[in-house]
Amino acid sequence: MSSHTRVALVTGSNKGIGLAIVRELCRQFSGDVVLTARDVVRGQAAVKQLEAEGLSPRFHQLDINDLQSIRVLRDFLCKEYGGLDVLVNNAAIAPKTANPTPFHTQAEMMMKTNFVGTRDVCTELLPLIRPKGRVVNVSSTEGVRALNECSPELQQKFKSETITEEELVGLMNKFVEDTKNGVHRKEGWSDSTYGVTKNGVSVLSRIYARKLSEQRAGDKILLNACCPGWVRTDMTEAHKSPEEGKEVVEWGFPPESYPWANA
Ligand code: NAP
Repeated sequence: MSSHTRVALVTGSNKGIGLAIVRELCRQFSGDVVLTARDVVRGQAAVKQLEAEGLSPRFHQLDINDLQSIRVLRDFLCKEYGGLDVLVNNAAIAPKTANPTPFHTQAEMMMKTNFVGTRDVCTELLPLIRPKGRVVNVSSTEGVRALNECSPELQQKFKSETITEEELVGLMNKFVEDTKNGVHRKEGWSDSTYGVTKNGVSVLSRIYARKLSEQRAGDKILLNACCPGWVRTDMTEAHKSPEEGKEVVEWGFPPESYPWANA
């Protein structure tokens, strides 16, 4: 593999939306596509499934909760490709219905994967993104919903154009602490742990996009957070038309106000 070969990578792509993204990238992206999974057996089974469809993804293990695993992947990308062109942060855990796990434990686990893990991957892999690279953090409408269920004080902090990464991490840690102490509602949080973690991912993406535009403006890297239906690595102005039945909505407004909500 040479450093001239372009490479795209999707986290948590042994099944679900991640697998679908890898499938489409294999069809449309001119370069190598790396399918990653925390479990090697599940990951290799997914690769076999795509190979049976005539596609040729590569495989690499990645557990986003494990810094060592992220760093081994980073070293692989540096050695084999000398960088990274497309990163889709898809891996996450969603709430299960009727989950007997205590609420605060669910909050801790979900925050660890959805926010901390995604941030750790960004910390290690964003420096590898080459000029004109694309980074997509898969978020959720539930994040915007949770944001709008938070107190006006919290909403103001999350919506601030100057919020720092450290301040955001502090807020995410506070949410977990507040659930442990049974005071998260009193402290102005939404009851949706998943939504709070996904709001964290969206705000983190705004912070990274701001940093990239300040520090690497000439590199024309595009970083955004989106709902799964919008996962595309070329989301530019040209693609803002609702040609696929989708419309871009301004971040921060409650999902009930979206044009299609009452259609
Ligand atoms: P899914 O079927 O549950 O797949 C999640 C993927 O993430 C799996 O491959 C899972 O691996 C992986 N994963 C979980 N923890 C991981 C970790 N620590 N390290 C690496 N991989 C890990 O979920 P999905 O429905 O496809 O959702 C994909 C993304 O879309 C998520 O970010 C989700 O929040 C978002 N989303 C989904 C919906 C929806 O309706 N499905 C709506 C809005 C947003 P294992 O197989 O090993 O568990």
